[in-house]
Amino acid sequence: MDLSLVIPIYNEAENIPLLISAITNSLKDTNFTYEIICVDDGSIDGSIEVLRSVAKIHSHVKAIILRRNYGQTPAMAAGFEKATGKIIITLDGDLQNDPADIPLLVAKLEEGYDLVSGWRKNRQDDTLTRLLPSKIANWIISKITGVKLNDYGCSLKAYRSELIADLNLYGELHRFLPALAYIEGAKITEIPVNHHARRFGKSKYGLGRTFRVIMDLLTVFFIKKFLTRPMHVFGFFGLFSLILGVMIGSYLTFIKLGLGKSIADRPLLILCVLLILTGVQLFCFGLLGELLMRTYHESQQRPIYRIREIVNN
Ligand code: UDP
Ligand code: MG
Repeated sequence: MDLSLVIPIYNEAENIPLLISAITNSLKDTNFTYEIICVDDGSIDGSIEVLRSVAKIHSHVKAIILRRNYGQTPAMAAGFEKATGKIIITLDGDLQNDPADIPLLVAKLEEGYDLVSGWRKNRQDDTLTRLLPSKIANWIISKITGVKLNDYGCSLKAYRSELIADLNLYGELHRFLPALAYIEGAKITEIPVNHHARRFGKSKYGLGRTFRVIMDLLTVFFIKKFLTRPMHVFGFFGLFSLILGVMIGSYLTFIKLGLGKSIADRPLLILCVLLILTGVQLFCFGLLGELLMRTYHESQQRPIYRIREIVNN
């Protein structure tokens, strides 16, 4: 199998038949063998029935029906799990992505990349609630994660399947797949793709996702920098706090024992206690982090490095 298309579906009944025929159209002139994996994420609008009948007619289509609505990330993860292609392509089930771009993504990937991301240069969404927050988010994400992309939110992406196998998805981390891939050492690029306004159904997200994106960003940032060395961050702040606390403590001890003055009414005393306690706690977090990190890697035999290739005659 060459290509596996993974499509999360949540209440997209009218879009499914059009999407499948658009995909078949775009791939019919290529020599790729492919499968279309539609993951139904607990739809209640009849999407499941549509998927069942489409899967009966088209031999390319495989429908995975989840028990309830889990969210876009778990739906995509379920599709990844069942994908057998050498290249995995993700796209939305709402026809906003254009299947005609798929061969372009694959061609770019074959130039030697591990991940090719779509860039919705002419994005057809609401300006105030979607485009503006997304512009700001893209800027912050690229600054913090170090992956230089113009558009993280575009679902249309192509991956090498080995890369997907190395990525663990949680929460709503599908938006950070390029960042997670970058942590795993992937070569990443992007190409401009088409984007259409939604014709049927409505968007599943509103402004509320901004907050969740920020929280996810913090997680990804921490994983990127400190996953294999938590003591370096906690230990640094812990030590700093502890040393400062002990210095203030010594000063106060000198005043009390050396000069014989009372220190009971000094706010500095509270600061000293706070700094020492915080310091000890941060240190303990660091140590716990080190233990957890070892469990994380050793329990699943997850190496702390990734090999691109081994050269040998
Ligand atoms: N989706 C999903 N589960 C959810 C929410 C969304 O599977 O809980 C799917 C949805 O059907 C669509 C894709 O994820 O195929 C993207 O959702 P949407 O188009 O609403 O997001 P937007 O394009 O507005 O960012
Ligand atoms: Mg959409």
